[in-house]
Amino acid sequence: MTTFADGPPTTTADLIALDERWSAHNYYPLPVVIAHAEGAWVTDVAGRRHLDFLSGYSALNFGHRHPALVAAAVEQLGRVTLTSRAFHHDQFGLFCQELAELTGTEKVLPMNSGAEAVESAIKVARKWAYRVKGVPDGTAEIVVAASNFHGRTTTVVSFSTDRTARADFGPFTPGFVVVPFGDSAALAEAISERTAAVLLEPIQGEAGVIIPPAGYLAEARRLCDEAGALLIADEIQSGLARTGQVLALDHDGVRADLYTLGKALGGGILPVSALVGRADVLDVLRPGEHGSTFGGNPLACAVGRAVVRLLATGEFQERARVLGAHLHDRLTALVGHGVEAVRCRGLWAGVDLPAAGPSGRDASEALMSRGVLCKETHERTLRFAPPLVITEPELDRGLDALEQVVNR
Ligand SMILES: *Cc1c(COP(=O)(O)O)cnc(C)c1O
Repeated sequence: MTTFADGPPTTTADLIALDERWSAHNYYPLPVVIAHAEGAWVTDVAGRRHLDFLSGYSALNFGHRHPALVAAAVEQLGRVTLTSRAFHHDQFGLFCQELAELTGTEKVLPMNSGAEAVESAIKVARKWAYRVKGVPDGTAEIVVAASNFHGRTTTVVSFSTDRTARADFGPFTPGFVVVPFGDSAALAEAISERTAAVLLEPIQGEAGVIIPPAGYLAEARRLCDEAGALLIADEIQSGLARTGQVLALDHDGVRADLYTLGKALGGGILPVSALVGRADVLDVLRPGEHGSTFGGNPLACAVGRAVVRLLATGEFQERARVLGAHLHDRLTALVGHGVEAVRCRGLWAGVDLPAAGPSGRDASEALMSRGVLCKETHERTLRFAPPLVITEPELDRGLDALEQVVNR
């Protein structure tokens, strides 16, 4: 066993060595060890400050330790934190009502992680297909898009097209049909009388902030209506103000039957996810058929309610729109100058680096040494998702660093 003569390790190198020795290696983090964070900034154990340009993949839309969210958590910690769903508690119904009202939906099924919300959506859609649509038992299909990311459970990776996410984890759950993202004709072709649902990210985050062609999501809605299938929008990363609207689908004027929410719903404090949508669809679940020990716990609901209150002001959606326009302008100016292509919606961007320049990993490390934290997605794409509390000068500081890194 490693021993530390001078007490527990405190340096970057020793702390990373500890992780390497004792944790499973399912991530490849940047070599920075964070000890403190506030707003858009994190401080590492060496005392260096970095701008957070990743925001926990949009889990930190309101920045680190937003005072209103911390206050809600602390207040709830002094009252009751867990009951299980065996009993009612006084935050549960209010959270469900307030989240439904914010999202313009009718009912809420609270869960914890994003993957669980997606699993819940799959179960609800299948049961709805058998009990309401009349699909023969055991034959329901869910149509999904290539290059999707919906989480890491065995069923969810069953319809991933990412080799690394799937390899050696089979046998897989059947009942999924994969079509190219953004291709309405392929979607029309794939939908049949057995289709329970079409499950899409309105914008594919993990794939590199891939925005589908204009009209695609409206066409998906139309095709679902025509076939009597549900449209499920996975808004775990795209939702809750990141794109400048509560829901990314709002940009297209499209309503889904079910939405999965997560990440920012927990305010960067704890995992909170939910499946929200039509009452007649969520009502197919009866007591005992689905559940979660921690889903909808008092602490999660209190923090979730505080998140909803922040979103109800519209301030963060507005910040995402205004700062996002600036981000878009500055990134677009880099195209041809060390950047190959840029996709941007709100304060969310995918930046493709040319094959001739640094890899995504090298660029992330170079940005880190300049005090900006972000992470590559795939080989040559950087994803930027700064906290929506970031100021324009801070955003510029990060973009100046990017300019130096890609223009070397
Ligand atoms: C992150 C993410 C998930 C999975 O969420 P976890 O909390 O990591 O399980 C699902 N869908 C999308 C679109 C995501 O970005």
